[in-house]
Amino acid sequence: MKKIQAFLFSFIFLLGLAACGNDMKEMETDTSIDYNPKVDTNKENNVVSFGFENHTVTLNSGYKMPINGLGTYSLHGDVCVRSVKSALKNGVRLIDTASAYGNEEEVGQAIREAIGEGIVKREDVFVITKIYPGSEMANPESSIQNCLNRLNIGYVDMMLLHHHDKNDVKAYKAMEQFVKNGKIRSIGLSNWYVEELTDFLPRVNITPALVQNEIHPYYQENDVIPFIQEKGIVVQGWYPLGGRGHSVELLEDTVISEIAKAHDVSSAQVILRWNLQKGVVVIPGSSNPNHIKENTELYHFILNENEMDRINALDRNEKHDWY
Ligand code: NAD
Repeated sequence: MKKIQAFLFSFIFLLGLAACGNDMKEMETDTSIDYNPKVDTNKENNVVSFGFENHTVTLNSGYKMPINGLGTYSLHGDVCVRSVKSALKNGVRLIDTASAYGNEEEVGQAIREAIGEGIVKREDVFVITKIYPGSEMANPESSIQNCLNRLNIGYVDMMLLHHHDKNDVKAYKAMEQFVKNGKIRSIGLSNWYVEELTDFLPRVNITPALVQNEIHPYYQENDVIPFIQEKGIVVQGWYPLGGRGHSVELLEDTVISEIAKAHDVSSAQVILRWNLQKGVVVIPGSSNPNHIKENTELYHFILNENEMDRINALDRNEKHDWY
């Protein structure tokens, strides 16, 4: 049964890509180009409607989430507030934080300030946070409430379990309760792979809306991504640019640099666009306003099939962090 499902998903996904390829071919000759072609992986039972036309994906919870955002790992204090506000000013509407990053207060402050200055409305911004294994998952209700208090922006758009843990089912069920009382809109998981998902999903009531895992050209998870997407769960990639300490090597990769030159964009934009065309949501981290802006400019070019294949061939199964 799983094999049939996997085959059907692959077939529908390839059809989607073929349609995307056709769009691309038309675009090469059409001067009235719509650079936001619809790449839709709609499936009858499992809806993952990943669209370029409005830069959002519809989650299985019914909420729409932007497909490019800002990661805030290692951003603190004023740098964090400035970076989040810079992102919001540049049109970014998805912000990723976590209890473990120690910056939920700054993220919340930046959002409240941006609302006060008329840059965004609360409902325009999609905020993801996470609770951590150990004491946080052992006492999930208070940990979740602490995240809400630190962010102080009313509700949270999405909460994830940061890693699996002996208390992860208990912690997830606590998040389910917060969904019921309207304080959290969608819930999901981070650093969950095929085995862990297979074990976890039958034990919870609300199917995760999203799984956030390490994904970049040197660690592509080509087996894991379709496994998750075929369940109607959106995949989001962390370390999209390889992560701190690794990004230079990745950004200077000959293949990526050649493709970037051909499109007159940066290597970072090529990698982010490659993710988007695989149906993977991106949350690059940066405190540099120029990079933050550049990382939003992903919709005026399209990687063709050959370019996607060349980047796919860079996979080294090289994880840049332990989880
Ligand atoms: P990244 O791969 O996004 O970025 C790596 C480096 O690239 C940074 O040093 C940044 O300064 C640089 N950079 C960003 N944009 C650039 C550009 N346009 N040109 C040149 N350089 C650029 O690494 P990250 O920020 O650590 O990860 C992204 C986000 O993923 C984090 O901020 C965090 O929100 C999330 N994350 C989640 C987990 C998890 O376990 N769930 C783990 C790690 C990170």
